[in-house]
Amino acid sequence: MGELMMSESINSESINSEFINAGESIVQDWIVHTGGCHCGRVRFRVLATPVLIVQSCNCSMCDQTGFLHLLVSRSCFQLLSGEDNLTTYTFNTGTAKHLFCKTCGIKSFYIPRSHPDGYSVNARCLDPETIERLEIEPFDGRNWETNIDALRAATAKASDGTT
Ligand SMILES: [Zn+2]
Repeated sequence: MGELMMSESINSESINSEFINAGESIVQDWIVHTGGCHCGRVRFRVLATPVLIVQSCNCSMCDQTGFLHLLVSRSCFQLLSGEDNLTTYTFNTGTAKHLFCKTCGIKSFYIPRSHPDGYSVNARCLDPETIERLEIEPFDGRNWETNIDALRAATAKASDGTT
């Protein structure tokens, strides 16, 4: 919580209560990262560790875009602007909601099939200032059904602060 109070990027009046609650329950070294799309219409902030563990997925879609997944719970993410500038694309099972900025076309975050109750933030779309290091782990999304349980277990552990 101390980290949150010290962060310059926080305007306490604009934080939603859900976001604050997440801040109170997180492990101590979590900080606020900010990010957004290329044109700047879509902006968000996310609570996570300074060293980000992200997944590089080889599925048909991520392989084309180079999306680096930072998986976060819903309460650790807050959209600051651009909600009405997002458009949704779905395919296959339709569970994942791929959210694109209507103006610049960048998918800076979306609702992933792996974690439909949370978000996947594109680590490439985060402002670099607060990122200490990216640790990139491969995820074999071409064999999604085989690998998803291991990914869910690993990310649940990480958000517990038990890793
Ligand atoms: Zn944009």
